[in-house]
Amino acid sequence: MTRVYLDHNATTPVYPEVGDAVSSLLTTKFGNPSSAHAEGREARVMVDDARRQTAALIGARPSEIIFTSGGTEADNLAIMAAAGSGGHIITSSIEHHAVLDAARYLEEAGRVELTVIPVDEDGLVGPADVHAAMRSNTSLVSIMYANNEIGTIEPVEEIGALCRERDVLFHTDAVQAVGKIPLDVHALPVDLLTLSAHKFGGPKGIGALYVRRGVRLQARQHGGSQERSIRPGTENVLGAVGMGAAAERTNNGLVAEAARVTSLRDRLEKALLDAVDGVKVNGGGAIRVPNTSSLTVEGVEGPALLLSLDLEGISCSSGSACTTGAQAPSHVLTAIGLDSEAAHCTVRLAWGWTNDETDLTRVIDTLPRVVRELRELAVFER
Ligand code: PLP
Repeated sequence: MTRVYLDHNATTPVYPEVGDAVSSLLTTKFGNPSSAHAEGREARVMVDDARRQTAALIGARPSEIIFTSGGTEADNLAIMAAAGSGGHIITSSIEHHAVLDAARYLEEAGRVELTVIPVDEDGLVGPADVHAAMRSNTSLVSIMYANNEIGTIEPVEEIGALCRERDVLFHTDAVQAVGKIPLDVHALPVDLLTLSAHKFGGPKGIGALYVRRGVRLQARQHGGSQERSIRPGTENVLGAVGMGAAAERTNNGLVAEAARVTSLRDRLEKALLDAVDGVKVNGGGAIRVPNTSSLTVEGVEGPALLLSLDLEGISCSSGSACTTGAQAPSHVLTAIGLDSEAAHCTVRLAWGWTNDETDLTRVIDTLPRVVRELRELAVFER
């Protein structure tokens, strides 16, 4: 049975050209980019090219890209480095844990004050709330570009503009936006922006922090001059090459791909809402990234739906995380006002470059049937 992969927000399969670019290097190129000899210079050129390709995807200058081990590290770098000197941080209740936990760590250590702003029922952060939370010592605002669970796109332009007025650093975690919608950092009032290669067809374990020219960050680790001494250590050359190749492929035809994926997502939502009662699209009232559907299906537990779909060859994710054996509702779904039962009855379908019309037909044929079967089973069990 061919599988339908609908979990592109967790990770994406690597583009074939990324695989080709990386695998051909694995056994043939080994230079250290810091070495002065030919092998080293060759590796340096590869990292420089990758930096240029990655920068081009978000409209940045290559010198504004700091490679990291992924989105989590880039988020930590932004929060820790910008806020390490103290002051007050503002973030939102639906951020990824890489932001929330880093900010809470600083607060608990007594190094910063922290305000976590609530969101509305679509997951939107209100710029007025950010404005109201600002203090004279606010040093950093971190609001994500797009949410990983419900896809909501935040008003980063307005929030960034408020930060500019007050001379406050603005970081946005754009891990779920980069590669899904066009982004141009120089048209945005953004100082720091996080990206992660494995969310747009690149390898896992490589990401980057965009650091606007002129913004000074404190190093979080020490021991070398790589990545402008902010993130020293011998470069992940293969990862960078993979990220660069993925960025280039993503950049070619991004708008058309966004429209194609939106159409798959929207037709599935419509077919499901037409066929089944008691379904809610979370974040449905906001502008969302093209690929994400967070669906609360009354009376059907998310993990059960996930498993049934898995048996049918369809991969998605549920709105509950298994922590120490118990199903804890996601903080994002709770933040948009779902009670824990509704959060447990939620699944996320995240479309991407591997999906096509055949997948859509398969999901439209399968999902309503599986929901009906699980509801019948629930009645029977009662
Ligand atoms: N930020 C967001 C919004 C994410 O969705 C993720 C990954 O799911 C991350 C950060 C972490 O990225 P990485 O997996 O590269 O550490």
